[in-house]
Amino acid sequence: MPVLEQFQTPALFHISTWYVAENRSFWVDVLYRKLSASGKSHTEIIGTIEELKALPAFSDIITRIGENAMTVYSDNCRQFTVDELRDFSAHPLVHIGNHTHTHAALALQAAARIKDELQTSQQLLEEWLGYQPLFIAYPHGSMNRKVMEIAAQQGLRLGLTIEPMKNYLPIDADDMLFVHRFNFSDPWADVTTACRQIIGKRHDRAIIRQLLSRFR
Ligand SMILES: [Zn+2]
Repeated sequence: MPVLEQFQTPALFHISTWYVAENRSFWVDVLYRKLSASGKSHTEIIGTIEELKALPAFSDIITRIGENAMTVYSDNCRQFTVDELRDFSAHPLVHIGNHTHTHAALALQAAARIKDELQTSQQLLEEWLGYQPLFIAYPHGSMNRKVMEIAAQQGLRLGLTIEPMKNYLPIDADDMLFVHRFNFSDPWADVTTACRQIIGKRHDRAIIRQLLSRFR
């Protein structure tokens, strides 16, 4: 917050509500920690994460990881409490978005689960903060046309992908649930290199159409 305040920069934070409601650690972090400790390589762990993401229900993931493994044991491995989230969201520079209930890879899920993930999160955030968010960041960047349609039905108006391209304003109404986003953590080592890479990126309608057709 001191950095946002210094530069008067608004920021959007996306919340997966299950972890807040249940006070649990994020399943990917738990799994990574557990498998690293047992000597698995990064590639092997990523393989297991990909496999679990495709399971049809969140309860399947919990069963595989073990419910106790997701217990919070320190401040470093927990999410907000509801009270903390409420205080945080009241700051004028802070905006809150949907990140599904359980951090689901939506494109891999059936329509009923997609709806439930988005709706449950919208309802809890409304209960906690007094409003339903207009924004979604698709967990794991997993999205397609079906996901966009269901998101729109849940009142979401802006969707953030992980397609690393620029956005030029105004964004077409059709592309509002397909907004590009750069990830600073990977594969670039530092912010200067990342900014150089971003400046060099192209963005045009043909690329968007090509990407969207891939998701159909
Ligand atoms: Zn996420």
